[in-house]
Amino acid sequence: MPQQEDVFKKLVSHCKEYGFVFPSSEIYDGLGAVYDYGQNGVELKNNIKKYWWDSMTLLNENVVGIDSAIFMHPTIWKASGHVDAFNDPLIDNKDSKKRYRADVLIEEQMAKYEDKINKEVEKAAKRFGEAFDEQKFRETNPRVLENKEKMEELHIRFAQALNDGNLEELRQIILDYEIVCPVSGTRNWTEVRQFNLMFSTEMGSTADGAMKIYLRPETAQGIFVNFLNVQKSGRMKIPFGIAQIGKAFRNEIVARQFVFRMREFEQMEMQFFVRPGEELKWFAQWKETRMNWHKALGLGDKKYRFHDHDKLAHYANAATDIEYEMPFGFKEVEGIHSRTDFDLSSHEKYSGKKIQYFDPEQNQSYVPYVIETSIGVDRMFLSILAGSFCEERLDDGETRVVLKIPPMLAPVKLAVLPLVKKDGLPEKAREIMDALKFEFHCQYDEKDSIGKRYRRQDAVGTPYCVTVDHDTLTDNCVTIRHRDTMQQERVPVADLDKIIADKVSMKNLLKQILK
Ligand code: ATP
Repeated sequence: MPQQEDVFKKLVSHCKEYGFVFPSSEIYDGLGAVYDYGQNGVELKNNIKKYWWDSMTLLNENVVGIDSAIFMHPTIWKASGHVDAFNDPLIDNKDSKKRYRADVLIEEQMAKYEDKINKEVEKAAKRFGEAFDEQKFRETNPRVLENKEKMEELHIRFAQALNDGNLEELRQIILDYEIVCPVSGTRNWTEVRQFNLMFSTEMGSTADGAMKIYLRPETAQGIFVNFLNVQKSGRMKIPFGIAQIGKAFRNEIVARQFVFRMREFEQMEMQFFVRPGEELKWFAQWKETRMNWHKALGLGDKKYRFHDHDKLAHYANAATDIEYEMPFGFKEVEGIHSRTDFDLSSHEKYSGKKIQYFDPEQNQSYVPYVIETSIGVDRMFLSILAGSFCEERLDDGETRVVLKIPPMLAPVKLAVLPLVKKDGLPEKAREIMDALKFEFHCQYDEKDSIGKRYRRQDAVGTPYCVTVDHDTLTDNCVTIRHRDTMQQERVPVADLDKIIADKVSMKNLLKQILK
């Protein structure tokens, strides 16, 4: 079995070779942790956004969307706490001069213990075969127990240090657990310092006394400051939600792992406003709905898990992450947070404007509580590609690289391929494409052998290839080839519409969420 890191490297180069993701400013040697999406990447990304947007605004009649500006009044970031507290603890290795997030180094150490445990379990499962009782093994095996104890000890110490904001203790943990720099291999660490992640720029000319403003580090604040506008203009009644998709910017200390951690990225956030006291009920409900949204894609239920937060922000009373098993381990893709009335109250205080809701049923006004679901488009994109990337050995000894992207999200839905470039086949193929192009993203390809053309479509994840041959001209039937099974069947041209729609329609996917 290939190493997961190799798979990840292959995936990154595949993304470039097939027009999914390019490093930004590549001809100038790139710009750290900034990426551009290519012709196939943008289609996949748009489809992910549509899936999210429709799941929010079509399936919930009490969720509406907005699109707020990236630039916002600087006091917003004071009110939200970002100016004073949007920091990461950073630490440098004096030998390699590399910079790390102290919390991430410690989390990676915890993941190592977990890896060891999983390896013991895997080994034992192979040894005992059918008779293996995993739960009992986990509860009794001394090596598993030893690693579990170490992990729990570290976990408690780490959570305490984070909660206390104790930077010295974070450093001490790194020293005590003998965590080394992956580059230099040494333990020659600096102190841990706080680093603010917001980018700033200036608005207006300096002669006028320019104003320092920030590039938003999250889209959520654009929703909070528009709470009253939307509530009043839409006559919204609590509970209701506001959804938004847009760019966010963070000057990440350690920007590695491709589009997983970028300095410019995109978020899909939804703020759900509820009655005080009902927030935990809604938190539980959104947790479930969001997990269903992920699982409906069919990448495998085992690839997802919840990870409850150790450190709750001071204003939150519950928080969890949905993690996906990336080639580099389980990682956060989405956060679900119960944020109390912190944001709206804080904006009330800083703006001096009343931000309340009059509840006709309770006959009183209050500042609503908020449940937030916040997911990164780019991390979602990466999870889909990681879950879809396959290298398969075929019967004829060749290998094919295929992206088994959920068909509804695939960049191209259908390739139309004339068997040869003559005898009226290209014209017939064009005719078929012209009829289908209003509904599905189609691609026409007549170059190279049919086998090569199939491979090209596999590599970008096209679920269907339709081949037009000489018989098509008389029987009006084509050969349709299915990406995942490579099976081919002969079908009437008139049926194509339905066959394809069945598999690629967003409607069917949306229905899955509600099941
Ligand atoms: P992390 O702990 O990994 O830095 P976070 O907890 O700071 O993430 P949130 O502030 O909860 O992230 O942001 C919500 C979502 O936005 C995340 O779940 C993630 O999908 C996405 N996101 C956050 N930072 C980045 C980034 N630098 N690049 C890409 N996506 C990001």
